[in-house]
Amino acid sequence: MRYGETGFNLEIDLSRGNIERVETDSKLTELHLGGLGTNTKILWDRVPPGTEPFSPDNLLIFSTGLLCGTPAPGANRTIITTYSPQTLLMAYSMMGGFFAPELKYAGYDKVIFRGKSPNLVYVWIHNDKVELRDASHLKGKGAVETAELIKQELKEPNAQVAAIGLAGENRVYTASIEQGRSSASRLGVGAVMGDKGIKAIVVRGTKDVNLARPAEYMQLCNEVLQYIKVREEHPVPGVMTILQGLGSPQEMKHFDEEWHTQNFMWGNARTRRKDFWNKEVEQKWKETQETVRTRLISCYNCPMKCGAIISVPGISTYMMKCFSKLTYTMAAYSDLDFGFKIAQRATEYGVDGFSTPQIMAFGFELKEAGILTDADFAGCPSDNEGKFYWLLDRIVRREGIGDLLANGTHWAAEKIGKGADAFAHNNIKKHEQLPLKLGMLNPVYFLMYATGEKINITQIEGQFPQSPFPTVEEREDFCKDWIQVPDEKFKQYLMDWEMRGERSNPYYPTVDMSVDIVDWQEKMHYIDDALGVCAGLSSFPLKPPYHIHNYPHLISSATGIDIDEAGLTQVYNRNRTLLRAVNVRRGLTRADEKPPEDHWKKRFPELEEKLLDAYYKFKGWDNRGIPTKESLQQLDLGYVAEDLEQRGIIKNGQD
Ligand code: SF4
Repeated sequence: MRYGETGFNLEIDLSRGNIERVETDSKLTELHLGGLGTNTKILWDRVPPGTEPFSPDNLLIFSTGLLCGTPAPGANRTIITTYSPQTLLMAYSMMGGFFAPELKYAGYDKVIFRGKSPNLVYVWIHNDKVELRDASHLKGKGAVETAELIKQELKEPNAQVAAIGLAGENRVYTASIEQGRSSASRLGVGAVMGDKGIKAIVVRGTKDVNLARPAEYMQLCNEVLQYIKVREEHPVPGVMTILQGLGSPQEMKHFDEEWHTQNFMWGNARTRRKDFWNKEVEQKWKETQETVRTRLISCYNCPMKCGAIISVPGISTYMMKCFSKLTYTMAAYSDLDFGFKIAQRATEYGVDGFSTPQIMAFGFELKEAGILTDADFAGCPSDNEGKFYWLLDRIVRREGIGDLLANGTHWAAEKIGKGADAFAHNNIKKHEQLPLKLGMLNPVYFLMYATGEKINITQIEGQFPQSPFPTVEEREDFCKDWIQVPDEKFKQYLMDWEMRGERSNPYYPTVDMSVDIVDWQEKMHYIDDALGVCAGLSSFPLKPPYHIHNYPHLISSATGIDIDEAGLTQVYNRNRTLLRAVNVRRGLTRADEKPPEDHWKKRFPELEEKLLDAYYKFKGWDNRGIPTKESLQQLDLGYVAEDLEQRGIIKNGQD
């Protein structure tokens, strides 16, 4: 019997219409856990490195995490893996909500798609019954609308539906997959779904998930819940509002936007509005949010309520989480009510709420600079809000200038030429990151931005505070119940970190300390992403309920796998290194690991090179960022070393 996981994947060949239920190898679970770990292994084994994202040979994998569907709070992530049309590297976008637990209850750990359907279809998974159904009547429909129509059609109000909108159908590179209470938005996973001819995946499951030692596991889950409660009653003092509690940034709950609106640049990261936030704006924005937010909502089995049902008069209801309310508002220099209105249309179209506003602002900047012309924008309204709606419509339909912009700022700039690339200035690895421009280089953030392969800064932030506490008393106060640290040395790093002087950014935390901190933060993210636990309860916030000390016990009591902290660290290193190898084989080089030139006003090229060198060395990679033969072998990845050697990426046995 398998515990935690079902032990079965669904393999669907869309070209042939063939559906198979395939038993998986439990040894792979021990080596990689599940979720992101086993997705990476499948992509490495089965998709040749030269495969185009829109090739029928590219796979699209919907995976549950190893603990999804068990009673662990927040274990509800679906990890979607494919080759990204935008970065051309491996994408692993995630969504919360209810989809992954439902898939487990239907009896599957993953759904793996290959090939392409000749007609638009949706997949109906109802326990053992799985079918491809015609979706031609859903063509052009919004993602939320599609979910409702399918549930009515199947008479299954409790089915979970992951669907694409027009953007996915038209292979817009920033197309998302929407799922009622969450979305997988980054790196164009919706475009690959559209390319494969899948409008939606619908799941209803009523089976059980087995646990190896249920009483012990329930006790641990209760402890997690208790800790969440205690932590919510004791917000962390001295940090910005959204970092005080748990969960993904609870933008639907909080109204205090002073930090974001005054410290982040507006437009396409151009203008800082230093005195924007005042009592009047605060009151107005609070009223707007309270008027449209009908209720706060959670993902499956989580008390945190990070999302909200948004109901703006005159337009359909939808779900919002996180920063979308601000990304559109700030790109268009507009008021908060605009953010809530346009996000509804964007959700139905199914587009990434981080990239899309930046792409639109980029388009208007090119027009202002004379690089794009009035003819490109013929028919575009002149008012600030109207023009954003106009361009969004063009992008998702790939009409006129929207066709170029639908490929994101990197590829659009390459095609447009005439210096357009200077305006695509928030990109790392060809993809729009958060539109931030900051002052002094922070060495930890430099490394996370540069080397992160999730390619989403908000999801690689972690448990070490983002800036020093001003006083020794505050630091001591923070450290006294900091049980999550993997090693006591992290407390000393924090105690010694000053706002100014020798022990401040950029030279403190030192190079070695920065590498330690990034490794800890990455470790937690890679473990979460294999287990399917929400980062909002583990790798993202300060002092979370899940950490390196309680995870091994949770994993072993759920699955029966005998694992301790050292073993879990080994799995993390294996998964991290394998993902790096997948991307190295796709052409990732050190030159790609570069935050935008103007990301920080003060840059330190020599220090930045030292940081990269030290990070690579710590990981067991050479100074090109390529895993060495020796480190691969130590991680049971000898087959990867052989492959890289055969391709001449690791040369003649040299590292
Ligand atoms: S912490 Fe928030 S985003 Fe995470 S599972 Fe809970 S409700 Fe969802």
